[in-house]
Amino acid sequence: MKPSRLCQFVLFTLTCLAVPLTAAAADVPVIDYHIHLRGGMTVEKAIQRQAETGVKAGVLRNIGAGWPIETDEQLREFLDSVEGKPVFVGLQVNDRDWMTKHSKALLDRLDYVLADTMIMPMPNDDGPPVKLWITDGYTIDDPEAWMERYMRHNLRVLAEPISILANPTYLPPPVEHLYDQLWTDERMRTIIRAAVDNHVALEINARSGLPRDRFIRMAKEMGAKFSFGTNNMDDKPIDMTRCFEAIDLYGLKKDDMYVPAPKK
Ligand SMILES: [Zn+2]
Repeated sequence: MKPSRLCQFVLFTLTCLAVPLTAAAADVPVIDYHIHLRGGMTVEKAIQRQAETGVKAGVLRNIGAGWPIETDEQLREFLDSVEGKPVFVGLQVNDRDWMTKHSKALLDRLDYVLADTMIMPMPNDDGPPVKLWITDGYTIDDPEAWMERYMRHNLRVLAEPISILANPTYLPPPVEHLYDQLWTDERMRTIIRAAVDNHVALEINARSGLPRDRFIRMAKEMGAKFSFGTNNMDDKPIDMTRCFEAIDLYGLKKDDMYVPAPKK
């Protein structure tokens, strides 16, 4: 190919890449549902960022034993503090009894509930909940046996009345390198089927690289809904390129994306 032809080819390719991205983005609701009000992040800053970037904001706080919201009184305070603001409002639930422990009237005021699978009973199903990202509190001696338990844990979380599963297919550091061995197609299908059946959206996380390509393709094929999330620790901006690119890469359309039902 002559240099001029090559130039034309490159330009043509770039144009082709840019147009579908713009077109797709115009039709797909781009919402970051995983904005924690912590580390200096406030609802006012989230609203400001929403105005600047055009990415709609969903703000949340953690609820559960040892988390910022433990009681109904604290839950009410949080809900009152964001009442009437132009953002979606959610909770990240960390205990498995949240839906019976808190007032239904308060929970009904939420737009969405997000959960992940990163806190799991160890060393067996009856053990205390352990934060899997803190690795000095446990060991995984038999990864396959642990994975069977982890599947049950995933399905338990997916059976709760949640709206979004954050960081799907997360694996803790001791077994992270076994991702392709532990996450067989069959296991992925089981998780996706449970999410579809229980109307739980699967988060495409901006930072963690989760879930990986194989899972997203399978989930799209099986009719799952998706959401985007950054999972911030502070108030610094987070690059959402991975989410924007996913729209084009997986051909995501408006109907593939989770949007909260209007409140009653
Ligand atoms: Zn989170």
